[in-house]
Amino acid sequence: MITIPPLSTTYAQARAAFLRAGESALARIEHHIHPRVGPEGEELAIDVAELGPSDASHVVVVVSATHGVEGYCGSALQRHWLEQHSPERPDAVRLIMVHGLNPFGFAWVRRVNEDNVDLNRNFIDWSEPAPATPEYDEIADLLVPAEWSEAEQQRTLDALFEVVSSVGLERMQTIVSAGQYTKPTGVFYGGLGPVWSHTWLRSWSSERLAGASHVTIIDLHTGLGQWGLGELIGSETSTSAAHQRAVALWGDVTSMVDGDSVSANLTGDWQAVAAELAPHAEVTSTTIEYGIVDTITVMQALRADAWLHAHGDPTGPDAPAIRAQVRAAFADDDPAWLEQVWPRFAEVLERALDAAADR
Ligand SMILES: [Zn+2]
Repeated sequence: MITIPPLSTTYAQARAAFLRAGESALARIEHHIHPRVGPEGEELAIDVAELGPSDASHVVVVVSATHGVEGYCGSALQRHWLEQHSPERPDAVRLIMVHGLNPFGFAWVRRVNEDNVDLNRNFIDWSEPAPATPEYDEIADLLVPAEWSEAEQQRTLDALFEVVSSVGLERMQTIVSAGQYTKPTGVFYGGLGPVWSHTWLRSWSSERLAGASHVTIIDLHTGLGQWGLGELIGSETSTSAAHQRAVALWGDVTSMVDGDSVSANLTGDWQAVAAELAPHAEVTSTTIEYGIVDTITVMQALRADAWLHAHGDPTGPDAPAIRAQVRAAFADDDPAWLEQVWPRFAEVLERALDAAADR
């Protein structure tokens, strides 16, 4: 069975391995330095490795770490492809690997960024008022309590399960995870305006994707769905031309807007504005979402992480255990899991490249 090497244990390690792989594949490499540093004082950056003609009309973009910690898997997939498969790339196609879109979250082992913002709730239309979320607000203090003792965890979990029993699990998933704009220390917080990675993505795309006529985007995620399964999720309704193109290219793509995906229908994900990133091109995009553990386990990790950064000390004695808990929810070091995730990615990328070469 073909598999990928073990996942990196730190952002710095993942970054170095990615850059080495890019160099050995003779990619053109750029570094876009982030204003903050990692827990060891290490530099943070969005690194871009690019192969193929820079003026190609057909471009394929693969992005990792929109949700920081999910980059441990995404980075390994990008790196392994560069190491093993770059010679198979069709000559006429331009392939761009964007490594660590949210490098702060990657390094600090968080889904969110330096502002506690979920990047995939940040791409709303900021010229309009952000969506109100009264149901989230009501349970905000239960989700992220001021204290994280065993007793408080039990009390708040019991209270949250009471809400689940009255509204149902699916509705609860939407209330909690659809995105909220009122509680800056809460979970799934969308921010007050475009964050650093958001601004970067728009300005980089407007410059670097301007010449393309066809752009295919693959965004790598983990944390939802069945163990090892890579669900392809679209951000458009299934009747849209963009969704139909994704289905024609990859087969089964679910639509989070139509409610048939493992994700809640959320607000402000960047895939939903993918067309705006290359307004002169036909843009086809998907998220690959690899499952690891169950939703409750994921939520407990995210609550602990939000508590640590809101009320605890992210450099103190509670931090390593919580970071390990978050990592385990979003990156599985089990070789059997790695064996599952690689072929799915290879197939999705290969189809995108082949289709781009044929057109
Ligand atoms: Zn994600």
